[in-house]
Amino acid sequence: MIRARQPCVVLTGAGVSTESGIPDFRSPTGLWAQFDPLEYGSIEAFRRDPVRVWSFYKPRVAMLTGAEPNPAHLALAELERLGFVEAVVTQNIDLLHARAGSREVVEVHGSIRTATCPGCGASQPLERVLQLLEQAEAPACPDCGAILKPDVVFFGELLPVAAIERASELAREARLLLVVGSALEVYPVAGLPQETLGSGGELAIVNRGPTPYDAQASLRLEGSAGEVLAEVAAALRGEDAQHAQDAS
Ligand SMILES: [Zn+2]
Repeated sequence: MIRARQPCVVLTGAGVSTESGIPDFRSPTGLWAQFDPLEYGSIEAFRRDPVRVWSFYKPRVAMLTGAEPNPAHLALAELERLGFVEAVVTQNIDLLHARAGSREVVEVHGSIRTATCPGCGASQPLERVLQLLEQAEAPACPDCGAILKPDVVFFGELLPVAAIERASELAREARLLLVVGSALEVYPVAGLPQETLGSGGELAIVNRGPTPYDAQASLRLEGSAGEVLAEVAAALRGEDAQHAQDAS
């Protein structure tokens, strides 16, 4: 399907990162089942008490920066290099697609790459935020002293407009939308498959557990993102080598 239906756009969710040891916060046993998102993950909570929210985020950021890309991330980066994947649209904030080598990555829930000062608007890179966290429980803006907010989408915040518009455009242009590790439950990302289907594209889903689009998918695989994508990359790598052989 990937060879026949180009361009292929990939949509990834928490299920891709769990194989790097990053828990799915929305799962029944996940973080948001233990911690009230309104108290730790909402923009209201951050405005009310940013230091308290950082006491919760600090170990998370350490865990995210310590995680490594897994075979799913590596396979998607390879498929992009081989010309089989146009872009990756991701709900994940952990930077693992970029670290694996993917170049066209649309982060619809933001990422930990930068943090912004709500006081003066200055942006700080992750490296600087980590330095500041070594000295304090919460990173204060070096310019004005306000507590920095990570550029990830908090509950109660709008998604970054440019990213979601780009994601919609990619979904409409895709002849194949390959969904990996997402239950497709969180809007507006959950609406992207409808944009692909509505413009005549097809849908393939690799996920552990059902999604609302299973009946409309041309292909539905229940399984590990890393195992499935590594096999896909190996198969297409072979095809590519075969084509090179034919040409020679
Ligand atoms: Zn500032």
